[in-house]
Amino acid sequence: CAVFGIYNHPEAANLTYLGLYALQHRGQEGAGIASMDEGRMIIRKGEGLVSEVFDETVLRDLRGSSAIGHNRYSTAGSDSQKNLQPLTATISDIPMALVHNGNLTNAPDLRRILEDEGALFTTDVDTEVLVHMIARSRGVDMVSRMESALANVKGSYSLLTLLPNALIGIRDPHGFRPLSIGKVGNSYVLASESCAFDLIGATYVRDVEPGEMVVITDAGIEHFRLFPKITEAACIFELIYFARPDSRVFGIPVYQARKRLGRRLAADSPVEADIVVPVPDSGLAPALGYAEESGIPLDMGLVRNHYVGRTFIEPQQSIRHFGVKIKLNAVPGLLAGKRVVVIDDSIVRGTTSRKIVSMIREAGAREVHMRITSAPINFPCFYGIDTPNRGELIASSHTLEEIRRYLKADSLAYLSIGAMEEEVRCSQTFLEGESRTPGHYCKACFDGNYPIPFTQEERVQHGL
Ligand code: 5GP
Ligand code: SF4
Ligand code: MG
Repeated sequence: CAVFGIYNHPEAANLTYLGLYALQHRGQEGAGIASMDEGRMIIRKGEGLVSEVFDETVLRDLRGSSAIGHNRYSTAGSDSQKNLQPLTATISDIPMALVHNGNLTNAPDLRRILEDEGALFTTDVDTEVLVHMIARSRGVDMVSRMESALANVKGSYSLLTLLPNALIGIRDPHGFRPLSIGKVGNSYVLASESCAFDLIGATYVRDVEPGEMVVITDAGIEHFRLFPKITEAACIFELIYFARPDSRVFGIPVYQARKRLGRRLAADSPVEADIVVPVPDSGLAPALGYAEESGIPLDMGLVRNHYVGRTFIEPQQSIRHFGVKIKLNAVPGLLAGKRVVVIDDSIVRGTTSRKIVSMIREAGAREVHMRITSAPINFPCFYGIDTPNRGELIASSHTLEEIRRYLKADSLAYLSIGAMEEEVRCSQTFLEGESRTPGHYCKACFDGNYPIPFTQEERVQHGL
């Protein structure tokens, strides 16, 4: 999912709309904005893309000088209208709206407890647990309320809360999902990724730190440490696939990191070939790196149709198969007789990659070599990326050679987990005034080391 928030700006809802637009890649199922106008909350949300949910009239309704917004991508709860965010509540007569990127791993348990105590839930999403926890928590102010509400919550959250006189941003103690602070004029902005700042002319200030809460009010910005420092677990998959290449997440410029991953792949798994072909769009930056390092020329042998709504092809496996051909096509004449290296960022189920290999062969390629700029995805994610369950991940039950045969590729190579992490670390840059030490990364979908330990019962339940 994507979150965006802005405080004290005359065009709060318009800028939130633009911010969500820039963050559309993080979720296409639905979008919503809540604005605060003189202590009164206004909310508009709907299924579909940002451009489908909002128009001039809807945006005009969203009056007020502060707003938060959300793009939904379902990892918890079914994808239906009632599960869209922002969620809203009135707690001790104070209206509040909440948006969340991540996944609360113990939400089902907490929900059962809350329901036993009489809480009424109106959605299926884990985020609603937070609303109830905040409503029930004791504390003299919002800071202490948040602190006690989150004390029992496990999982990943980059969370924004809009109140009549404050915008609050919180990252979970592991810092799984990104959240950055920006500034436009005198107004502070919070967003999942810095590409949202570029669009609205805001400057990047810094990231919200893992376990940190920032409170933005008329008086400025204040910082609180909600949790003691623990080992960070920034999602490495954000850098490999999820984030937009023009963003900077976890202090790392995403495009540069992806190019480095491609270079490393060329060094670690070279192959004699005539042409490097990226799988657009996620394979573009890594393919450039691969081509530069190997000296093999890059050509855009596959073209993507950008007008295919992901919303339409995502949910069902049957439509997904069909989807590959609407999405990608080989450029006629370019690949005939060539030895082709195809570069992509990851293989999940293997179904798309298999179709890509056969498409390239049908275009006349003599050899097809698949190179992947991540390690094999072996385990499901429980922290906010929608990976299928373990059984559907091709690498969890097949050897490299078996996967190569399934794809019908002449050769196949992935990056090692170590190489992947090294290249990501080397891509870290430090901006003036930033003294952040490089943290640790979550790599659980590759190595099965889940930063939040499972109970035995959960292991069985998840097929681990
Ligand atoms: P596969 O061959 O496993 O069917 O598909 C691999 C492709 O899926 C890669 O191009 C990769 O960029 C893409 N991919 C990886 N993770 C995700 C995800 O969470 N959502 C979507 N839509 N595509 C993904
Ligand atoms: Fe990211 Fe993978 Fe960890 Fe999920 S399991 S947070 S996708 S690195
Ligand atoms: Mg891709």
